[in-house]
Amino acid sequence: MTCYEIETLLNLDEQQYQPFIMVLVVVLGGVFGSFLTCMLYRVPRGISLSSPPSYCPSCQQKLKAVDLVPVLSYLCFKGRCHYCKTPVSPRYMVIELCMIAIFVLAYIMTGLSLQLIPALILAVSLAFVVGLWVESRKVATKVLLFSIMMSTVLYLLKC
Ligand SMILES: [Zn+2]
Repeated sequence: MTCYEIETLLNLDEQQYQPFIMVLVVVLGGVFGSFLTCMLYRVPRGISLSSPPSYCPSCQQKLKAVDLVPVLSYLCFKGRCHYCKTPVSPRYMVIELCMIAIFVLAYIMTGLSLQLIPALILAVSLAFVVGLWVESRKVATKVLLFSIMMSTVLYLLKC
């Protein structure tokens, strides 16, 4: 199956579904932004990504679903922990907003095409590399190499 055939299969009536797709892209950007904040906190500290579940670093309270959306929880709880009221750094919200903006830009640039998936993977991995360097001055070499590989895939998909 050629790239053209795959893109033809994916070629929904994009104009008709544009608002739905944009909402989906924003939600996905938020989910990956939230996951990115988790990774940027845990990886430099050597904490597993899967366990324990997300918690407040101040009061150790396990976070509920409403607390796991940094933009919403930051606005709802006025920048404080839902439980102990300790101020929460706005960086979680900023990272999530940046990921949403990057996802929307990637969608605008590629449209609903085969290039969108490697573009989003590339965006998440590069955001992790940059975020980890800013957080801890560590270079995520393997993720950087993966990003280079993804950019090659992205280039090759321009068929
Ligand atoms: Zn707390």
